[in-house]
Amino acid sequence: MRKNIVAGNWKMNNDLAQTHALITDLKKQTQTSKAEVMIAPTYTSLYAAFEALRLDKIEVIAQNMHFANNGAYTGEISANMLKSVGVETVILGHSERRAYFDETDELLSKKVDAALENNMHIIFCFGEELNDRKTDNHFDIVESQIKNALFHLPESTWNNIVLAYEPVWAIGTGETASPEQAQEMHAFIRSLVLDQYNNDVAENVSILYGGSVKPSNAKEIFSKPDVDGGLIGGAALNAEDFFAIVNAFNMSY
Ligand code: PEP
Repeated sequence: MRKNIVAGNWKMNNDLAQTHALITDLKKQTQTSKAEVMIAPTYTSLYAAFEALRLDKIEVIAQNMHFANNGAYTGEISANMLKSVGVETVILGHSERRAYFDETDELLSKKVDAALENNMHIIFCFGEELNDRKTDNHFDIVESQIKNALFHLPESTWNNIVLAYEPVWAIGTGETASPEQAQEMHAFIRSLVLDQYNNDVAENVSILYGGSVKPSNAKEIFSKPDVDGGLIGGAALNAEDFFAIVNAFNMSY
């Protein structure tokens, strides 16, 4: 069944002490929405976060991983290492990984395969740059990012996949796609999945929106029928803002 999810991507923020402090603040918040809540701290805080949230409903997820299980890949982290500290879900394809670490669709496809082989869940990110939208190429770009990394997968693996549409021009910029722009793209994405697979897969895949979601705009964006939640960057670093976003999500929209 399609899940409603609000996931916080902490990026390269929060050392161990700050992780504990933010988790303490998060635990003080009450959740009134039916969305599943996830946070993605940096690698060095994952185990501490997992331990601190062991009895809580907030899932601790990772921001990235390598495609190999082990070996001579200095500085990298594998799926089974993540699983050994309690992590079951990984974000792949974030635009910052694509832009600053040259992650291509081909590489991401290998990471997707490795995550699935390790029975992990994936939040797969993609989205167009400003110029793509200005030149009306945004649908083509999104289509190729999804096709190249995901459409080789068998239908059965789609239970483990969540999609996250993140227009690059809206990430960390304060610019947000309008709820109509988000809905238009999410409906397009669902139609791609329908064409490649079937109605079951298309209806059951959760599609999150990411890009400057804040307490003031979350409700309107989440009210759209094909928006199943959000991937939150900046606003996830403040417990009150993050839960204001979580609680803006209401299944009865
Ligand atoms: C992100 O990095 O995934 C993101 C959506 O960031 P922000 O909310 O800060 O735009």
